[in-house]
Amino acid sequence: MAPQPAATGPAVEQAVLDRVPQGLYIDGSWGPSADGGTFAVVDPSTGETLKRIADATPEDGLRALAAADAARHSWAATPPRVRAEMLRRAFDLLQERREDFALLMTLEMGKPLAEARGEVTYGGEFLRWFSEEAVRIGGSYGTNPEGTGRTIVSHKPVGPAFLITPWNFPLAMATRKIAPALAAGCTVVVKPAELTPLTTLLFVDLLAEAGVPAGVVNVIPTTTAGAVSEPVITDPRLRKLSFTGSTPVGRTLLAQAAQNVLRTSMELGGNAPFLVFADADLDLAVEGALAAKFRNTGQACTAANRFLVHEDVAEDFAARVTARVEAMRVGRGTEDGVAIGPLIDDRAVAKAHRLVTDAVERGAVVRTGGHPGEGTGTFYAPTVLTDVQPGSDILRDEIFGPVLAIRTFRTEDEAVAAANDTEYGLVGYAFTEDPARGQRLMERLETGMLGLNTGIVSNASAPFGGVKQSGLGREGGGEGIGEYLETMYTLTPDPFGR
Ligand code: NAD
Repeated sequence: MAPQPAATGPAVEQAVLDRVPQGLYIDGSWGPSADGGTFAVVDPSTGETLKRIADATPEDGLRALAAADAARHSWAATPPRVRAEMLRRAFDLLQERREDFALLMTLEMGKPLAEARGEVTYGGEFLRWFSEEAVRIGGSYGTNPEGTGRTIVSHKPVGPAFLITPWNFPLAMATRKIAPALAAGCTVVVKPAELTPLTTLLFVDLLAEAGVPAGVVNVIPTTTAGAVSEPVITDPRLRKLSFTGSTPVGRTLLAQAAQNVLRTSMELGGNAPFLVFADADLDLAVEGALAAKFRNTGQACTAANRFLVHEDVAEDFAARVTARVEAMRVGRGTEDGVAIGPLIDDRAVAKAHRLVTDAVERGAVVRTGGHPGEGTGTFYAPTVLTDVQPGSDILRDEIFGPVLAIRTFRTEDEAVAAANDTEYGLVGYAFTEDPARGQRLMERLETGMLGLNTGIVSNASAPFGGVKQSGLGREGGGEGIGEYLETMYTLTPDPFGR
C-alpha cells in the first residue's frame, strides 16, 4: 500500500516551520546577516507571520560570492561520480521528507497541498536527472578537414553562478538551477524570492546533509533584492547568472550582466496561447484547459493566458469549463479538496481584477467568478470570461491568477496569427485530432514549448525554456547542464606529421 500522507494541523505546521533554519547559509554555516536584520515570511491565506529569517545585506551577498569563489576549484576537481552521488542522496532525502517540503510550500506560497506534493516530485526529478547527467559530460576528438590537425573539444564548469528564483515554485525553481550547476562542477549563490524563502533554506540544509561541502552552495534571502544582487552580478568573480522571474526584472539583470559579459540563462514571463480546433477531442481539451490554467491557482509562467477556440465549439467548450470551474473549492491549501488557493499577495489580486474589469468594460462576458474573494487572505474567485475582445489588456499581460479568458477564431491562419501576436514565446497548447495540423503548429508557433493535446509540458528530461522575450537558454533535458559548462577546444598537429 502507498504510504499515507501525514495529517496536517497547527502542531504539524509548527513542527515543520521549526525545522527551517533562520540564518543565511554562507561557507557551510548558518548565521545572522551583517546588520542583524530579519524579515517576516507570511502565509498568504491568513496574512499571519510564519517565521522571521535573516535579511541579507550587500555585504552578505559579497561574502557568499567569496565563499563560492574559494570553493570553485575543489568542487570542479571533485570527481563527477562523487558530485552525482551527492545529488542522488539529496533526491533520496527529499523523498523521505516529501511531506515536510510539501506542507512548507503550501504554508508560504499557498498552493493546494496535493499540488505541493506534485512539486516535490517534479522538483526532485531535477536532482535525479542531473545526478545522471553529471557523469556524462562528454567531449570529442576529430580530424580537421585538411587532415593536418586534431581538434579536442572539452567542457569545463563555467565557475561561480548566481541563481535568482521566483516565489511560484519554491522548490522546483531552486532544484532546476542548483542541480545542473552542481552536476557541472559550479559553486553557487542562491537568492530565493523574499515571499517564499523557507523552502530553499530547508532544501539547502538537506544538501549539506547529503554531503555537499562548505562554500559550494550559499543562500542569501533578502528584502533588498536589487541592492544585494547588483554588486554580486557586477563582481568579476561571478561567471554565470541564472534568473527565473518576470521579463522586466530579467531585462534589468541582463543589462547588469553585460558589464562583465556574463553567461546568462533567463527564464522569463509567458503569455501562453491555448488553441482548441473544431476537430479537437473536447473532453481532452477541457481537462487540458483546467490543468494549464488553474494549476498553482494560475500562477505559473506556463499558465494558459489566452484561450483561442474555434467558433463552432466555443460555446460547448465554455459551458463545460464553466461547470467544472464552478465546482472548484477555494480555500487554504491545507484543507481537503481545495483546488484554488490564495494568490501570493494583494498586488496579485488587484492585477487580476484590473484585467478582468478592463476585459468586461470592452465587452467580455463573465460566466463565473470575476471578483476578489471575501474575508482574510488574498483570494480571487476562479473566473471564466467569454467574448473577450481584441485589444483587451488580458490578452497582452500575464494574468497570473485563476482567470480563463476565451475568444474565438475561424481559420487556422487566424489562430496562429493571434497566438503569435505577443512579445512572449514560452509555451503554447493546441488541441486537435488532425496530426498534420499538429505538425504544422509545431512549425508555426513561436514558442519554446508546445503541449499538443496536453495541458502540462514540464518534465525534468525536457529542455524547458522560451523564445522571444520569454528568455534565453534551457533548463532540464540534455541542454540543462550545458548552461553551466564552457566549451574549449585544443588543436594539435597531425600526430603522423602529414
Ligand atoms: P520577479 O521578477 O518579481 O522576481 C523574481 C526574483 O527576482 C525574485 O527572487 C526577486 O526577489 C528577484 N528580483 C526582483 N527584482 C530584482 C532586482 N532588481 N535584482 C535582482 N533580483 C531581483 O518575479 P516573481 O513575481 O517572483 O515571479 C513571477 C514571474 O516569474 C512571472 O513573470 C513568471 O512568468 C516568471 N516565471 C518564469 C518561469 C520560467 O521558467 N520561464 C518560471 C516561473 C516563473
